[in-house]
Amino acid sequence: MRWSARQRQMLQVMGLRLWSRAAPPQSSPAPAAASAPAPAPADGASIERLDWPALREAVTTCRACELHRTRRQPVFGVGHAQAHWMVVGEAPGEQEDLQGEPFVGAAGQLLDQMLAALALTRAEQGPPAQRVFIANTLKCRPPRNRNPQPDELRACEPFLQRQIALVRPRIILAMGRFAIQSLLQSSEPVGKLRGRVHRYQGVPLVVTYHPAYLLRSPAEKARAWDDLCLAAQVLEQEAAPAAR
Ligand code: SF4
Repeated sequence: MRWSARQRQMLQVMGLRLWSRAAPPQSSPAPAAASAPAPAPADGASIERLDWPALREAVTTCRACELHRTRRQPVFGVGHAQAHWMVVGEAPGEQEDLQGEPFVGAAGQLLDQMLAALALTRAEQGPPAQRVFIANTLKCRPPRNRNPQPDELRACEPFLQRQIALVRPRIILAMGRFAIQSLLQSSEPVGKLRGRVHRYQGVPLVVTYHPAYLLRSPAEKARAWDDLCLAAQVLEQEAAPAAR
């Protein structure tokens, strides 16, 4: 990859190294694709047929779990509808609940900086190869940012599954414990799953730390950057050449 002066400057500010091409680590054995969600109030069978406008409407009006009672608004997701990159986070926090967009505030700024260093943005228009679609595992904020409950994650899972099916990303970045639980059906910690390539329904998936965690643990930023570099490297090597 060629680094522009702006990208170099950005990485320098973050204290991160330049990404250089290297042989990727061995892929881990492909875990089974996410199994079908357990019975949940949301009708997964009908959700999987929705187009973008209908899916957005379904999330907006969803009352499939108790979180609809306390949310200000659901946080659907943002970005290019056919981005090559997809970032999956955990659940909306206070600012996301207020603004209706995932990854805002300081954690969102850090994510945007790291994506920008790879010439990626969450803009809705533009070349899909330089765009990201960002979604959370859970669309509504748990009260006081408590951990999501298993039944809430199950109820919301069909929405994320449909978003992934519609975007058809070429690489997925799973950020944080609950994104990993939902996409890989794994309770292993991030530290044990990062640094190798997983699969979600055939799509390469790289696990990394949530930006909110990186703000609390800046020493881990270098590892998160390594994860983004791994994802970029895998994308270059594995992306299907067929144009959409
Ligand atoms: S968290 Fe998901 S399942 Fe629960 S109300 Fe919000 S959109 Fe519906």
